[in-house]
Amino acid sequence: MPPGAPLRAVAPWREVRLVGSVRPTLELADEQAEATIRLELEAARESAGALERRVNAARREILASYVAAFGSTEEPARFGPELEGLLRGAEGSIRQAFDGQAGLASQLTDRYVREAHQLGVDHAAAVLEDVNTLEVPDPEGLEAAAAGEAVTRGRDDALRLLSGPLVVAGGVAGLLAVVGRANRAVAEVKAATRTGVNRAHNLAVSEVASEASVGRVWIAERDVSLTDPTGVKRARGVREADVSEARVGVVWIAERDGCVECLAYAGEVAYAGEEFPGGLTMDTKKPRNTRPLPSPPLHPNCRCSVIPYRETDGAAFPDALKREARRSVAKGWRVESESEAVRLRAAESLLQRGADLPQSVQDQAERSLARGSFPERRRRAWREASTSS
Ligand SMILES: [Zn+2]
Repeated sequence: MPPGAPLRAVAPWREVRLVGSVRPTLELADEQAEATIRLELEAARESAGALERRVNAARREILASYVAAFGSTEEPARFGPELEGLLRGAEGSIRQAFDGQAGLASQLTDRYVREAHQLGVDHAAAVLEDVNTLEVPDPEGLEAAAAGEAVTRGRDDALRLLSGPLVVAGGVAGLLAVVGRANRAVAEVKAATRTGVNRAHNLAVSEVASEASVGRVWIAERDVSLTDPTGVKRARGVREADVSEARVGVVWIAERDGCVECLAYAGEVAYAGEEFPGGLTMDTKKPRNTRPLPSPPLHPNCRCSVIPYRETDGAAFPDALKREARRSVAKGWRVESESEAVRLRAAESLLQRGADLPQSVQDQAERSLARGSFPERRRRAWREASTSS
C-alpha cells in the first residue's frame, strides 16, 4: 500500500464505537472472510456450472419432445408409440447431461478445496507474521467425493423416476419432476463445494496456528537450555512462562446475521490441540450441532471463519466479537432462512441473562419483544452480491 493511502473502510455493519482498539484485527478478519466467500462462490459456480448448463439443455430438449409428441405442453400425455419415443429421448438427454460430470465436479471441488486450504495458510500467516513453518497436511477429499456422488445419485434417481405412468398421470409436470431431481444434483454439488472451501480454509488457519504454537514452545525450551542449563528451578519457571505466553489458537468469527447457533460461537477461542465445544446456541432450544468441532462450518452454508489468536493478545478482540453477537441478537438481525420467532426467543433469553449492551440497544430489544417483531432494517449492500447464489 503506498504511504498515505487511506485505510480500507471497516465493514459498514461493524459498530466501530464498540470495536475501538481491535478495529485493525476486525478489518483484517472481514477482509479475509470476504476473500474466502468470494472463493466459495466461484467454486460453487465452477464446480456445478457445466452440469447446470447441461441439465438446462436437457430440459429444453425434453420439453420440445413433449410438444412434438402431444402438440403442446398443455396437452395430456397418452400411452403409445409417441410416449415410448419421448421416454427414450428423455433418457438419452439425461444420460448425456450427466456424462462425465461426476468426475468433473469431483475434480473441480478438489481443486478449490486445495486452493481454499492455501488461502487459509496465507490468511493465517498474515496474522501470525513471525510464523516460519507453513507445512500443513493436504486437505482430505471428503467434499470432492461427496460432489461426485451427488452427481451420480442425481442421474440414477432422475432415470428411476422417469416412467410412462408418471408422464401420463402428470403430463409435462411429470417430466419436469424428473428434471427437478436432476437439478437437485446441481444444488448438492454447490453445497458440497462451499462446505469444502469453508472447512479447508478454516482448518488450514487452525493448523498454521497450532504449528506456530509448537514452534514457540520449542524455541522457548531451547533458549532455556542455552541460557541456564544448571538452574533447573529457574529454567523451568522461564520455560513455563514462555510456553503459556506462547498459547496460540484460533478465534471464531461469525457474520452479523449468522444464525443463533453460529453467533454463540463468535469470540470463542480454541487453542492448539483443542476443539470448539459442541452445543453452543443463543436459542433456548437444543442446537442441531452438539458435538465438539475443530473449526467452522457449523452447518451447510455457514459463513463463519476463524483467524489466529494469541493468548497474549488479550481478551479485547474475542470480547468485541461476543459483544457484536449479543448486539446482533438484541437487534434481531437475521437472514431470511431463519425465523423471527427463533430470534425473538434468543433476544428474550439474552435480556434475561443480561445483555451487557448500551441501554438504548436493550430498550429497543424490549420494545421488539413487546411488539413481537424486530424493526425492519435496510439490507446491507456490501455483501449483497454474495447472497444471490
Ligand atoms: Zn456459521
